[in-house]
Amino acid sequence: MTFAIHGLAVSRGIAIGRAVVVASSRMEVVHYFIRPDQVESEIQRARTARNAVIDELRRLQEEMPKDAPGELDALLDVHLMLLQDQALAEAIRNWISERLYNAEWALTTQLEIVSRQFDEMDDEYLRERKADLEQVVERILRHMKGAASPIAQAAPPLAPTGATPAASGQQLQLEGATETPLVLVAQDLSPADMLQFKSKVFAGFITAVGGKTSHTAIVARSMDIPAVVGARAASQLIRQDDWVIIDGNEGVVIVDPTPIILAEYGFRQRQTELERERLTRLRYTPSLTMDGQKVELLANIEQPSDGAAAVRAGAVGVGLFRTEFLFMGRSGNLPGEEEQYRAYREAIDGMQGMPVTIRTLDVGADKPLDKAQPKDYYLNPALGLRAIRWSLADPVMFRTQLRAILRAAAHGQIKLLFPMLAHRSEIEQTLAQLRQAQHELDVRGVAYGPVKLGAMIEIPAAALTVRSFLQYFDFLSIGTNDLIQYTLAIDRADETVAHLYDPMHPAVLRLVAEVIAAANAAGKEVCVCGEMAGDLSMTRLLLGLGLRSFSMHPAQILAVKQEVLRSDCSKLAPWAGEVLVSECPAQMLAP
Ligand code: PEP
Ligand code: MG
Repeated sequence: MTFAIHGLAVSRGIAIGRAVVVASSRMEVVHYFIRPDQVESEIQRARTARNAVIDELRRLQEEMPKDAPGELDALLDVHLMLLQDQALAEAIRNWISERLYNAEWALTTQLEIVSRQFDEMDDEYLRERKADLEQVVERILRHMKGAASPIAQAAPPLAPTGATPAASGQQLQLEGATETPLVLVAQDLSPADMLQFKSKVFAGFITAVGGKTSHTAIVARSMDIPAVVGARAASQLIRQDDWVIIDGNEGVVIVDPTPIILAEYGFRQRQTELERERLTRLRYTPSLTMDGQKVELLANIEQPSDGAAAVRAGAVGVGLFRTEFLFMGRSGNLPGEEEQYRAYREAIDGMQGMPVTIRTLDVGADKPLDKAQPKDYYLNPALGLRAIRWSLADPVMFRTQLRAILRAAAHGQIKLLFPMLAHRSEIEQTLAQLRQAQHELDVRGVAYGPVKLGAMIEIPAAALTVRSFLQYFDFLSIGTNDLIQYTLAIDRADETVAHLYDPMHPAVLRLVAEVIAAANAAGKEVCVCGEMAGDLSMTRLLLGLGLRSFSMHPAQILAVKQEVLRSDCSKLAPWAGEVLVSECPAQMLAP
């Protein structure tokens, strides 16, 4: 039966495919496609792991002390029974041979299906067997980890973050992908989970929780994959393998569509692709307004290799490199100076001589370093140890990053950006750490280059005291995502208050306008690098407020350029002034 689920539109476009429903805890298993000629060996790999667990449990049973409680023996019997269940083995084989899923993926997919069946059982005893099944699957997965697929081992890692085995499917996916597109449905996905799927195994994403500017949504946008977040109950209502349409423009998910609906969305999908193709013609067009104002369009990137997409989209530099993605999902094994240096160099080289703005680590809140990190240990993680506060609390780690960035600056234009500064004392401590990092390199006799220094303006206190920031920094970058979050007291990752997350709130606009005006008056560069920069409905207003530098995910650059080409700043400036004093600015934007 066809039904629709409403959520938040976070990444444009339309995706149509079969649902892969996962629990976020199972996201850590590798997901990639195998080639048809690898089916047999992959089935064998699953079988070997299962047999190893059977042996292990039998040994446990044999060695069990005589006085061990009888339940333990019975429990092992249940586990052994599940392991030898032919239906389970058959289903796993099917996922591998028909869908070309790797063994781990096949196993967890089947686990999701069976778990649901357990959930729906009336008998409490049987319902509780779900936990046993999960334990059995965990054991098999552990064995597989110990004996990683030769396919996965052979493929190069995708991300410099190292521990992204899913990425190993990046190349294999092209050879072995099934014809059917897949869309991922999850309760929640961390930004690091999203990055795992950068290999484009999935045509779209649906999550039950999350806000428009949650980092998960930002990564989906940067991957240019249709996504809907905050689609509550999606992971309960959508079943494994259901056909699903994701309308990332409207924030709607249609489950089990009729042929007529499918045809309609297929048509819209082609229209979107045509529109994108049409925009690519603007790639080499200089970004000038009708009255000749030059407007800089920059890219936000999460990984060094994203530079290629930025160049393809016609970016004239990177306005924000979110370096925290290099640090995530590494179980505490953070990248050292050398590894970071190589990553920053890769980003610079990828940008072919254009400037790269590298922001120092911004972890915390909805960007945990590791899943293990207790997310809600603190009452308000967004107000806690995050971004520059984190760096200043761990100066050794901070200076390691600073040294790596300074060394990379010897090879290209780097602008160094610090997140979430609010206090003068923080600015001074930050600059002292920078001087010390330079000194450490001097002592070691290692070459480094000059960097321009910038501050993110993303806390209202910083916006209100922007003049003192201008004394210290060469440029400013307005982080509207956090500026809105902190001005309106709205958790950007919480879908229950997403309707209050309003970029057009007069208070937000006034803060943004003041920062732009103050920087322009001081003759210093100012950029917006929050999601507002890529929001087409805001382009003309920001131009009218005097902004000439926008940084956004690459997929949005050409559409914004089209807006720039159609704009006349001389007319926009007086209108923007009126919007700014209006009590209801949103109404003035309406056409
Ligand atoms: C912002 O806050 O607007 C920003 C660009 O930084 P992040 O989204 O990474 O917090
Ligand atoms: Mg921010």
